[in-house]
Amino acid sequence: MSRRIVIAGNWKMNLPPQEARSFFQGFSPRLPPVGGPELLVFPPSLSLFAALEARPARPPVAVGVQNIHWEARGAFTGEVSADMARDAGASHALVGHSERRQLFQEGNDEVGRKVAAALGAGLIPLICVGETLQERRAQRVEEIILGQLDAVLGTLGTTPEREALLAYEPVWAIGTGETATPEDAAQAHGVLRARLREALGDARAASLPILYGGSVKPDNALELLLAPEVDGVLVGGASLDPGSFARIAEAGAQALLRH
Ligand code: PEP
Repeated sequence: MSRRIVIAGNWKMNLPPQEARSFFQGFSPRLPPVGGPELLVFPPSLSLFAALEARPARPPVAVGVQNIHWEARGAFTGEVSADMARDAGASHALVGHSERRQLFQEGNDEVGRKVAAALGAGLIPLICVGETLQERRAQRVEEIILGQLDAVLGTLGTTPEREALLAYEPVWAIGTGETATPEDAAQAHGVLRARLREALGDARAASLPILYGGSVKPDNALELLLAPEVDGVLVGGASLDPGSFARIAEAGAQALLRH
């Protein structure tokens, strides 16, 4: 299988529609038309149409939603279903981001249901796992990330034809300026990959890219992308600036050449 590098941006609750359009005005001309990494952005839901309209035709930039509900429709005020996101033009859904887990009390059970809903609707889930600082200090990294992964393995196992992405995002590195070292990332990604192999077999495990996320910036992106088992990055803060995100995409292109 040829090497994949995925550069994904999570805009969180930033870049309303007009700013989403301006983002692409700055970002698109900085990209090489072909041959780079796979690009993906997660705008807030209300900016989805603006991002879909403003994204360049080449290179392709996929657009996803930051959250979905597992039910298709019904009395769930404020929620958006996977079917609706797909129908509106999204191709991906972020699931299990640590801000959802921590601020909105989403547990592994909800994450599992959302992954099943995304796959059922034809969306590609980007499933996030990661430990808190307290858990890292207590040497519980493996236990925590494997527990989070195990909650979605059943679904991934019964949908072998469906694409999915994983992200290892240590919570202590998100939005803090603290970055895991490439060795930390490689270690955690290795643990996740081994479990994927054990549960799903070599071919399926190899088909699931594992991204690193946590204070990725233009200056540290390449070294992280060159770490073993790192197939891309999920970028928060630095994905809001077209110049910074384009430089991270450029690091992705360099990593592809060096692998
Ligand atoms: C994120 O939101 O997934 C993230 C990794 O944020 P930041 O890059 O700002 O740490």
